[in-house]
Amino acid sequence: MTQTAELIGPVTQLKGVGPRLAARLERLGIRVAQDVLFHLPARYQDRTRLVPIGALSVGDQAVIEGEVQLTELRYGKRPTLLSRVSDGTGSITLRFFHFNAKQRDALQRGVRLRCYGEVRSGAVTLEMVHPEYRPVSADAMNGDEIEETLTPIYPTTEGLHQLTLRNLTGQTLARLNDGAGVEDWLPAELLATLRLPDLAAALRYVHRPPVDAPVDELLAGRHPTQQRLAFEELLAHHLSLRQLRARVERHRAPVLRGPGELFADLQQSLPFRLTGAQQRVIGEIAADLQRAHPMQRLVQGDVGSGKTLVAAAAVLAAVEAGYQAAVMAPTELLAEQHWRNFGAWLAPLGVRIDSLAGKLKASARTAAIARLASGETQVAVGTHALFQDEVNFKKLGLVVIDEQHRFGVHQRLALWEKGNDSGRYPHQLIMTATPIPRTLAMTAYADLDVSVIDELPPGRQPVETVVVPGSRRDEVVQRVKLACRDGRQAYWVCTLIEESEVLQCQAAEDTVVILAEALPDLRVALVHGRMKGTEKEAVMMAFKAGDIDLLVATTVIEVGVDVPNASLMVIENAERLGLAQLHQLRGRVGRGNQKSACVLMYQPPLSRQGRARLATLRETNDGFEIARRDLEIRGPGEVLGTRQSGLLQLKIADVLRDQALIPKVDAAAQRLLRDYPSHVAPLIRRWLGEAVQFGDV
Ligand code: ADP
Ligand code: MG
Repeated sequence: MTQTAELIGPVTQLKGVGPRLAARLERLGIRVAQDVLFHLPARYQDRTRLVPIGALSVGDQAVIEGEVQLTELRYGKRPTLLSRVSDGTGSITLRFFHFNAKQRDALQRGVRLRCYGEVRSGAVTLEMVHPEYRPVSADAMNGDEIEETLTPIYPTTEGLHQLTLRNLTGQTLARLNDGAGVEDWLPAELLATLRLPDLAAALRYVHRPPVDAPVDELLAGRHPTQQRLAFEELLAHHLSLRQLRARVERHRAPVLRGPGELFADLQQSLPFRLTGAQQRVIGEIAADLQRAHPMQRLVQGDVGSGKTLVAAAAVLAAVEAGYQAAVMAPTELLAEQHWRNFGAWLAPLGVRIDSLAGKLKASARTAAIARLASGETQVAVGTHALFQDEVNFKKLGLVVIDEQHRFGVHQRLALWEKGNDSGRYPHQLIMTATPIPRTLAMTAYADLDVSVIDELPPGRQPVETVVVPGSRRDEVVQRVKLACRDGRQAYWVCTLIEESEVLQCQAAEDTVVILAEALPDLRVALVHGRMKGTEKEAVMMAFKAGDIDLLVATTVIEVGVDVPNASLMVIENAERLGLAQLHQLRGRVGRGNQKSACVLMYQPPLSRQGRARLATLRETNDGFEIARRDLEIRGPGEVLGTRQSGLLQLKIADVLRDQALIPKVDAAAQRLLRDYPSHVAPLIRRWLGEAVQFGDV
């Protein structure tokens, strides 16, 4: 295929593309001519119908046509040109902040205009701000036709116009029509089973939808041609993660049999029995650890489902086999808590456990590092301080990462690399309390095996959740008083509009004074992110020991803190937090077996999203259901966290909309790997570019 070469030549072979334009295109990932075709429209504008002004509503993007009734210049804070246009069904105001005399003259009374823009509400009529417009003549039918097809709108970058992108897609499509090729990496028989069109047809359609295209389907992204491309894109992402997985899989890892006697001893010492779900997941982990290749397993479990114990089982398996284990947490507070929890469980078994917190004194740190390097320390707990350069393990067999969404893929792999001991790599266990809907997990975590702890320890009662306006604060304070008088403990969480940690801490400092005054019989204390590690720890320990009744806190307590006697949580300005964060916070109560409650206070008025979020929390305690709705409200990028979302920067697919495709993607990936292995690399390159190499692991 000599002609194929044309479309894989550099983009400068297209007419009008010089070095400057090429540099801009490069920013969009467009390097060769073919890339232009895979730079897909982000959306479409519908300029195919003329909308009567009387039928417009706010938010519409529409083409209208009417006669100028009046044009006037207003001198307010900034000069504004206003033009009233009517078409017999209604009138609308065109508003311009930038204009010149020529423009002003062109908008004379009686002129007929065709305009395109977004409809907004205005003081008197609806408005369009800086619409596109041009004069048309009332009688002439020719030359003034409205667009016949939907107008594609491309993602772009500074200094690159839509028209330029349209022109370039036009050129490449023309070559395609002349017989130049783009290779279809999806085998024909696969497309036939899925009833999806071939690649060239799909590309032509989405760049230049034909006149009779079903507009609504296309605007919604559900047209078969779009679905075909979305499918291919999801497949490419899936394959790239699988490739990453396969690369890790090729390495060797120590065979860890267990969990054996140590874990049996631990179980003996516990006042409770493992849940069925914990047992099952521990079994899945044990099976992985016995293989001579690195485990890569993600354990998802709702807050309070008992992930720590599952991690302890894996840690003990490593220790028993003579290896070290590292437990990594996303915050100092959580690392300290893990250190205590694991310490309480493991030290009595004779296991030597050490903390490598970020804020250790230099001498203590040097000593801790030496104990790790000599192998004296068997289990190390810490934050990302664990994978700094000067930290070395003697014989690292297992890495446990808690709350995975805070660490990116790269950090995860960096820690893993650390364990490389003459070609042997540690096993990895990743735990997250932010459950991710199955379909999303299949896309985002295709490089991991997934276990789910889908059962809470018995006796847990759902947290009763109420939503109250800030004006009822006094009642809430009374409620705290009653709960603590009954020997329970409570959290009061402060949030703030500003993202600033300083201000958030200040608000907590003010609140603690006010609450201590209002509740003189209670022991009230404060914990926030700017306190020293040792101070924080002292307060948390006192709270855990029951020496504090009411703990005022910033959102630092979000993850992991475990005080079973705390049965009431008040969250101020709850409307400002996301669903997942609220669910995590709420998970700090309801950990014992008494009835617990969470009071979500908000400042009216609530936005629609804010209302939806708070209602969701009131209605359900199920982390998976909450995650599903969070995905609906915020979309996958946000749900997965910023670091992780880089993996899911999709051009055309939409994980939510295209959910139904995802199981088919999985099957197609297997088929491609088996029957068409040579298609895999070019398919990934086409959609993800050269950037996605994840280091050489
Ligand atoms: P998370 O999954 O949120 O990390 P934790 O591991 O902190 O949950 O466990 C929450 C609480 O439940 C802890 O106090 C823990 O000791 C307790 N727990 C764990 N497993 C069980 C069980 N099988 N039965 C009763 N309590 C349990
Ligand atoms: Mg936890």
